[in-house]
Amino acid sequence: MNETADVIVIGSGIGGLTAAALLQERGISTIVFEKNSYPGGSCSSFQREGYCFDAGASVFYGFGENSKSGTLNLHTRIFRKLGIEVPTIHDPVQIHFHLPNGFEIPAYFDRHSFMEALAVRFPHETDGIRKFYKELEEVYDILSSLPAGSLEDLVHLASLGVNSPAKVFALAVKTFRSMGKTARKYIQDEELLKFIDIEAYSWALQDAISTPLVNAGICLADRHYGGINYPVGGSGAIPRALCKGIENSGGKIHYKSEVTSILLDNGEAKGVRLADGKEYFAKAVISNATVWDTFNCLITDARYKVDENKFLTAPSWFQLYLGVDASVIPDGFNVHHILVDDWADYNQSGGTLYFSAPTILDPTLAPPGKHIVHAFVTAEVEHWQQYSRKTGEYGNAKEAYAASIITRTERILPGLSKAIELKVLATPLTHERYLNRFKGSYGPLLKPGQNILQKPQNRTHIKNLYAAGDSTFPGQGVIAVTYSGVSCASYIARQFGKPLDELK
Ligand SMILES: Cc1cc2nc3c(=O)[nH]c(=O)nc-3n(C[C@H](O)[C@H](O)[C@H](O)COP(=O)(O)OP(=O)(O)OC[C@H]3O[C@@H](n4cnc5c(N)ncnc54)[C@H](O)[C@@H]3O)c2cc1C
Repeated sequence: MNETADVIVIGSGIGGLTAAALLQERGISTIVFEKNSYPGGSCSSFQREGYCFDAGASVFYGFGENSKSGTLNLHTRIFRKLGIEVPTIHDPVQIHFHLPNGFEIPAYFDRHSFMEALAVRFPHETDGIRKFYKELEEVYDILSSLPAGSLEDLVHLASLGVNSPAKVFALAVKTFRSMGKTARKYIQDEELLKFIDIEAYSWALQDAISTPLVNAGICLADRHYGGINYPVGGSGAIPRALCKGIENSGGKIHYKSEVTSILLDNGEAKGVRLADGKEYFAKAVISNATVWDTFNCLITDARYKVDENKFLTAPSWFQLYLGVDASVIPDGFNVHHILVDDWADYNQSGGTLYFSAPTILDPTLAPPGKHIVHAFVTAEVEHWQQYSRKTGEYGNAKEAYAASIITRTERILPGLSKAIELKVLATPLTHERYLNRFKGSYGPLLKPGQNILQKPQNRTHIKNLYAAGDSTFPGQGVIAVTYSGVSCASYIARQFGKPLDELK
């Protein structure tokens, strides 16, 4: 007889693993199916020739202490609950921005230093800067005082309403506000408004006008409270610790197990079928795949098909994973950087260059005397679909594009091209293939003017089928998908009559 469980989770991204870990810890049995041989999806690590690269994410929120970051330190609270230690290294700068016209600014952990640095560039906007970032903090103060839970769980909502009515009301009003419109209340300087755009774009891939104030409040305030903390051993340490939590309490993770369909019976999810034809059954199924992959691939019933125009489809990525001679990284160099050459195309394909050197914090990720440089830009799958994998043409196109990115990176790291000892390249096709992500996309984005609450929550149109991950509220980013995993587990646990304890 095939294995059964209370809950089946499709995919071991951080959203899926978080939900599975919390459910399993509460005594609700889970099985996770992951198509790859390792967990974490966009937040995993991979090894190559002595280097341990972060596949995607490397700027991490959520590891703060309770006293500094309130309830937003979800990783700290989840790992405490699971009884697992995940050591991290504090990063004093979230991102060092290198912008047009010689505008350089590190987003320091120390709030005062950050505000001072902005005021030096924009002395005429000192008051506006203070007022704008204070508004973000007000959102942060509310969110960091409320326990995490599901917005679909009426018991949770009622308890928030009874215990913190004024905060809930204030937050509800702020969900209708945009970061960019709020900035324009206080700030007129066009260059400063562009900086606020790139602050939003750095994680949301949208300008500030399209970015909800609530999301901005979390990211741009928490960097000064909980801070940015890098897990020892690289990004893969986070999913590995979640897997340990699942397995310690009896849950199972099956790798190299691709789910090809979600089994429905009378409009209810009953289980999954894998690529090898085996079927597994459960009382509930959580999909950690994107909304498009779940409803247009894993569900074959056309009635549930998702209209591609329902959301904006974020672009994918072109990534370079470089092993470099350590001498190319100067002393005092920050870990994370964003480089914009021209404001006219910062939000166009490839316009903003991101790069990180995580070995500055954790040298064990590279052989002695070496560093890692992980550089990436947005890219469209359509451009790369003209090539067949494993052909010389594809290889040449990758090499040529990588060379142009290395040249751009040399503005900050002179001599980089000569210091490279290992180069691994990934296009949107790689991202699509490894992670089963539609078009290799960063995920669905809200359309300008849409409210954050219009992002899908964890319940779906299909009974007993739930979703966790970056297609659901609140959106992209490791801390955001962790929240979606918490809210998904909270909702399901209550349906099973075993509500989760508050994360402490
Ligand atoms: C280049 C890049 C840089 C980033 N940088 C940061 C950063 O610095 N900080 C930050 O917070 N966030 C960052 N992010 C975003 C963050 O990594 C993602 O938003 C988040 O990790 C997505 O998690 P998820 O739970 O939605 O699942 P995913 O990461 O998409 O994982 C889904 C998992 O499900 C598996 N799967 C899918 N379909 C199936 C199936 N049918 N059967 C079995 N398994 C399946 C996939 O193999 C994958 O392992 C970055 C992302 C990228 C791509």
